[in-house]
Amino acid sequence: MDIRDIILFTTAAFNVTLSSVIIFHNPRSRINIFYSLAALSAALWALGVAFFRIADFPLALAIARFYYVAAALIAVFFLQFALVFPEGLRTSWSRMRYAALYLPLPFIALLLFTDAYFVSYAQTLHGKDVRLGPAYLSYVLYFVGYVGAAFWILFNKFRKASAVARAQLWFVLTGVGIAMAFGMWFNLFLPITNYRFIWAGPPFTIVMVSFIGYAILKHSLYNVKVIATEAFGIGLALVLFVRLFTSASATDVILNALILVIAASIAVLLIRSVLKEVEQREKIQTLATELATANTELKRLDAAKSEFISIAGHQLRAPLTFIKGYVSMFLEGTLGPVSDFARESMKKVFVSTEQLVRLVGDLLDLSRIEAGRMRYQMTRVVLADLAREVVRQFEATARAKGLILLFQNRDAGELAVNGDPDKLREVVTNLVDNAIKYTASGRVVVELYAQERAGRRWLTLKVQDSGIGIKTADLAKMFTKFTRTEEARRLRPDGMGLGLYIVKKIIDDHGGEVTVASPGLGRGSAFSVMLPAL
Ligand code: ADP
Repeated sequence: MDIRDIILFTTAAFNVTLSSVIIFHNPRSRINIFYSLAALSAALWALGVAFFRIADFPLALAIARFYYVAAALIAVFFLQFALVFPEGLRTSWSRMRYAALYLPLPFIALLLFTDAYFVSYAQTLHGKDVRLGPAYLSYVLYFVGYVGAAFWILFNKFRKASAVARAQLWFVLTGVGIAMAFGMWFNLFLPITNYRFIWAGPPFTIVMVSFIGYAILKHSLYNVKVIATEAFGIGLALVLFVRLFTSASATDVILNALILVIAASIAVLLIRSVLKEVEQREKIQTLATELATANTELKRLDAAKSEFISIAGHQLRAPLTFIKGYVSMFLEGTLGPVSDFARESMKKVFVSTEQLVRLVGDLLDLSRIEAGRMRYQMTRVVLADLAREVVRQFEATARAKGLILLFQNRDAGELAVNGDPDKLREVVTNLVDNAIKYTASGRVVVELYAQERAGRRWLTLKVQDSGIGIKTADLAKMFTKFTRTEEARRLRPDGMGLGLYIVKKIIDDHGGEVTVASPGLGRGSAFSVMLPAL
């Protein structure tokens, strides 16, 4: 056995492995069936040529007949393949017509046994020499005719095919073109005058088998990892199988058979696990794509929502300012005398309008925050003045509820912070408003004090109430958008859960910190805002 025989055996092993991988994937696909049959015939051909070289005459002649049949089978299976390939471009023929393709085979086989095919043979110094007779011409015609027809069919499909099928057909035509050109030269034409290069044709089938294999696998959902694992498993089993026949003793046979069974079982398990893994990965991939699409859609909807809020907010603000203006003119008596009864009603209208103005303000803030358009006019703000002012505004409301509302400037004096006065007023207003809203009886105390921390002075504004309190479990999510506790919902169904979110955003943007504490339900709560003092 020399290198040429090893090449031939390797060719056979390669073709068997690849055809097995493809048939393993989908044993019912006609494309896969005819591909595998053609690849297997190529493997048999390579094996035949190898054994022909190793054997002596006259056994070698019998082997030569065998490989000529194998090569004839490549032609017919390839033609069948050309008819059914690719998916969606199958040539529709009747069964009879397909069956007719195989009719010449028995005649070819018979020819091989006549003296007009093999005229003489001899073992020479350069190898085996075989003289071919006139019957060989029929074989050449058969082979060239079948392969030519297959090419013609594939080429016509190529011209009509869509992009994907075109790429597949290109691979098939190229692979088969290369293999056939060399194979036919070395094994169909050259042998007429010189039989020495009979070994050179079969290795080129590797090109054909791998190119077509690639064309089949490329555009299907097959995964490289799975195919590699399968090829490895099948290749290993094949090697072990061959070793069975080269075993020297009975014990060897048993041992090798055992190894084969174990290796095959492990290979099957491995392939299955890889298949599963790939399947799962593909599933995750699909889910990820779906999620990404959903996410883009959500973002679009969110942007549309913010846009709507912004437009609606601006549209609402003007008429509200109008109403507020006229109501305060009524209350001040600018528009003539107002009866006490009407004044009381007007006050209620005024309070409600103010509530509405705040709500619209919150909505506008939300849309600004979400669009990243929150702007601040920073200046020096004396927090004590601001807090006192806000508390004064709420005095009437607190009194109406029977609550004590106090402002206590502990040790902050006239200390100031750098901030946007309107936004900071919004913060304090929100906190005091909440404290009054969520307190049925008792007191609301607004405290201001100074603190040293991390080498700087901070001002803390604490709004403490004796209201409904907050469950410990709820404390952490207090500053998230649209968060409202169950108790708050029950007491005040009209809230939106936006105020604290905006408070946090404003304080964060001021480089400050806002915290909440509550000893528990029904035991009041305290909201603290810390800002760096100037
Ligand atoms: P809203 O008051 O419109 O619900 P906020 O963002 O101002 O919106 O408040 C969010 C939630 O925080 C309230 O619904 C309530 O559950 C809770 N909360 C805020 N302030 C207090 C408070 N002083 N006492 C108890 N719970 C409060």
